[in-house]
Amino acid sequence: MKRFCIHTITTKPLTIEECLIEFPKRGVTGITIWRQALEGRNGTDVRRQAADAGLDVISLCRGGFFPARNAADRQTAIDDNLKAIAQAHALGAPVLVLVCGSVPGQSLVESRKQITDGIAAVLPAAEKAGVKLAIEPLHPMYADDRSAVNTMRQAHEVCDALGSPPTVGIAVDVYHVWWDPELKQQIDLAGKTGRLHAFHICDWRTPTMDLLNDRGLMGEGCINIREISDWVDATGFTGHREVEIFSDRLWATDQHRFLDQIASSYANLYQS
Ligand code: ZN
Repeated sequence: MKRFCIHTITTKPLTIEECLIEFPKRGVTGITIWRQALEGRNGTDVRRQAADAGLDVISLCRGGFFPARNAADRQTAIDDNLKAIAQAHALGAPVLVLVCGSVPGQSLVESRKQITDGIAAVLPAAEKAGVKLAIEPLHPMYADDRSAVNTMRQAHEVCDALGSPPTVGIAVDVYHVWWDPELKQQIDLAGKTGRLHAFHICDWRTPTMDLLNDRGLMGEGCINIREISDWVDATGFTGHREVEIFSDRLWATDQHRFLDQIASSYANLYQS
């Protein structure tokens, strides 16, 4: 199927080797790799194995988590992001996704400043490696400890503050931004500024039982995924649509059957 990508975290119980076998059987053509799936593996080997499986490596997830209470911890975060950039380079992943981070009790303005400084510190390494950095705005329910960047507008503001380097852009994840009244206009702006680096899909369940691990399969929830996807495509974006689902409920099911469900849900979504 066209532009069909799955994140390794979506089928967390499977090893990356199993993902490389099972994804292509469902028509998947792209894989986004989470760093924990790489543990004990050599990035260059995985790059070759993915190519042999006929899968493009779309992104590496994830870097970020720049804000911290003290300079030593901020430097630790920078060092980890430099490592992630090197991993992305070894994998042949063109994009590193950034979950930017936040510190409970620290002002969001200060955290956004630290995020901007952190990205600036790793930018030369990313440019040298040819790895794009994609700021992923996270839903405001994560503003306390996962990301002080909660809207597309704020992601654009970080890009602006950095001087709009072409390496830095935005990962649009429908789960995080579907509610935003400015969404279409901010997606248009991302297209015009060359900042649309990645597009993630899943669904929002009602009621949501867990803030992190109760995402829905496309079609199980209330997000206007196809409409948002069409807005993204209207900017000229031709990249993969990446299925990224964290779900204790779905991880507890048979992952081969779950992959079949993902493929049929994707086919339904993009059938016309
Ligand atoms: Zn995402």
